[in-house]
Amino acid sequence: MKVVHNFNAGPCVLSKEVIDASIEALKDFAGTGMPVICVSHRSKEWQAIMDETEALWKELMNIPDGYKVLFLGGGASLQFMMVAMNFLNKKGAYLKTGVWAKKALKEAEGIAKQYGGEAVCVASSEDTTFNYIPKGYTIPADADYFHITTNNTIYGTEIREDFDCPIPLIADMSSDIMSRPVDVSKYTMIYGGAQKNVGPAGVTFVIVKEDALGKFERYIPTMLDYRTHVEGSSMFNTPPVFSIYVMYETLKWVKRMGGVAAIEKINIEKSDMLYNEIDRNSMFVGTVKNKEDRSRMNHCWVMAPGHEDLEAEFMDYAKKCGMVGIKGHRSVGGFRASLYNACTLDDVKALVKCMQDFEAAHK
Ligand SMILES: *Cc1c(COP(=O)(O)O)cnc(C)c1O
Repeated sequence: MKVVHNFNAGPCVLSKEVIDASIEALKDFAGTGMPVICVSHRSKEWQAIMDETEALWKELMNIPDGYKVLFLGGGASLQFMMVAMNFLNKKGAYLKTGVWAKKALKEAEGIAKQYGGEAVCVASSEDTTFNYIPKGYTIPADADYFHITTNNTIYGTEIREDFDCPIPLIADMSSDIMSRPVDVSKYTMIYGGAQKNVGPAGVTFVIVKEDALGKFERYIPTMLDYRTHVEGSSMFNTPPVFSIYVMYETLKWVKRMGGVAAIEKINIEKSDMLYNEIDRNSMFVGTVKNKEDRSRMNHCWVMAPGHEDLEAEFMDYAKKCGMVGIKGHRSVGGFRASLYNACTLDDVKALVKCMQDFEAAHK
């Protein structure tokens, strides 16, 4: 099989151990003689996977009592609407740090228009293509919640501090979940698509504080009401079984790696290695304005002034070296390497070497 270094932004690399175990489960799931996608989701074998998956989340993320972990369909994008549907009574406050944050705000505006209330943007970095995290803003004390996107996948910025928020804090952690230990108690809800750090596409995780639900009267369609899924333990209807199964294997892998704190250490090493090269290499320059805002997951850079004409050439060269998925998002251009949990130190070393060799060939 072709050897590649997969830096895709999502769906993205998963550990080979996870893939192999999932293939096994597709052949014979838990000794049932059936593929995992062919057993009843009401069977005791499947129930055990649901229970263990939630238990692994609680253990790995150190989730306090009073929170439920849900596994839903619809992607993080459906959560943009569900958050507003379930929590926006009078006012939803949003930090606009990128395209995903903007989409979340748009859904809240729609819900507010339909049911009353308003959605407000507290601060934005859109003026400079979201290349920094706004600071020094005031969170409105009268809002129902404050929504943030902790990692801005397209622009390579990240909020890594679990700050004290005077109102319920809701975070889209699609692209940095389980990359570092999180103080879950500071959040009312954390959600994200699994396909960046905790599995394949098709399942969305929601960590929600149970007593924060149902605070005001509104008819919420059954499938959009978090309480439905809390009561049904994510099995109100047929859950996305295979995606959950691969997530289960991914969490077991995280545990074998030593847990989230151990993963964070490796993530720091990988990320520092790449940023050091971006900063050192005369051919390239990073796109994030302040170093403290730099994401450890998504690393964005462009050709340095004077070398812009070599962009296509570097891309070709990187491809030849086995690099996959390093083209920057069309709204930013240049390059982006996503160093999610399953991306290895060796992958990053190969990318750094490729950047160094390219520089040497053009000096
Ligand atoms: C990828 C991504 C999304 C969209 O997730 P879907 O599951 O495709 O809807 C939302 N937010 C962030 C931060 C992302 O990185």
